[in-house]
Amino acid sequence: MAFEGLSERLQASLAKMRGKGKISEADVKEMMREVRLALLEADVNFKVVKQFVNDVKERAVGQDVMTSLTPGQQVVKIVHDELTKLMGSEVSPLTLSNRPPTVIMMTGLQGAGKTTTTGKLANHLRKKQNRSPLLVAADIYRPAAIKQLETLGKQLELPVFSMGDQVSPQEIVTNALDYAKEHHHDIVLIDTAGRLHIDEDLMQELVDVKEIAKPNEIFLVVDSMTGQDAVNVAESFNEKLGVTGVVLTKLDGDTRGGAALSIKAVTGAPIKFVGLGEKLDAIEPFYPERMASRILG
Ligand code: GDP
Repeated sequence: MAFEGLSERLQASLAKMRGKGKISEADVKEMMREVRLALLEADVNFKVVKQFVNDVKERAVGQDVMTSLTPGQQVVKIVHDELTKLMGSEVSPLTLSNRPPTVIMMTGLQGAGKTTTTGKLANHLRKKQNRSPLLVAADIYRPAAIKQLETLGKQLELPVFSMGDQVSPQEIVTNALDYAKEHHHDIVLIDTAGRLHIDEDLMQELVDVKEIAKPNEIFLVVDSMTGQDAVNVAESFNEKLGVTGVVLTKLDGDTRGGAALSIKAVTGAPIKFVGLGEKLDAIEPFYPERMASRILG
């Protein structure tokens, strides 16, 4: 289960607070010491932890909390609110173009789940929003990438635009956009090149594709199991490319939670969707408040 350790530890320290009829500054301090350790152990970025602890403390030791009838519960609520805020507060909906098609550029390192997520997202948008998506195979470097997207398309009965691997991604995208307009596809999802590591060539190619595709969204797909590495990847992609949203995959695994809790605070890019399994319907919009409630029980 994701967040298991974090959840257990936070719940244990909040439980001590909940019933208290009166709390002192020392109580808050002691609780926040435990919360801090729990967050660090869950691999949350240390600067994010520091800020979080300060924010909660500042609100919790205020007069209105200390003198209220249910101070323990108030403190628990503050932790809940701040945890929600950390993950972005509001749901971040998809940015749609007012002149279709809406173009979504899918980026990410190899193995993060980029191609699978491209298929999942297209399927989600068709089913939940009645859209007509087109998948575009623009990763011409990984030998099996085009084939993988075509197989996904077949499974999902979604059209895939490809021109093989002897044509530049820029040319593929230009043609794909014409094709989409002609065939009235209102969403175009571009599966871009992924590599094992971030390098100049990868970034330059993504920048080139961005220039041509003029995407409404640039999604970065990251693996939640990789913790702070995911956050570092997000920072690099965001610097070079301007990421508009993150898709956090493999939340069905036993991730400690560090990526989910740090990415928005560190990079400013909101988590828009989460991947919850290998199945092609295992994708959901990300709800910060629900996630906070799940963690705090
Ligand atoms: P890419 O190299 O980034 O395109 O990655 P793929 O789309 O090929 O995915 C790599 C592996 O991760 C595949 O085995 C996927 O089935 C798996 N995967 C992707 N998303 C999820 C997820 O949300 N949960 C789980 N458990 N597996 C996932």
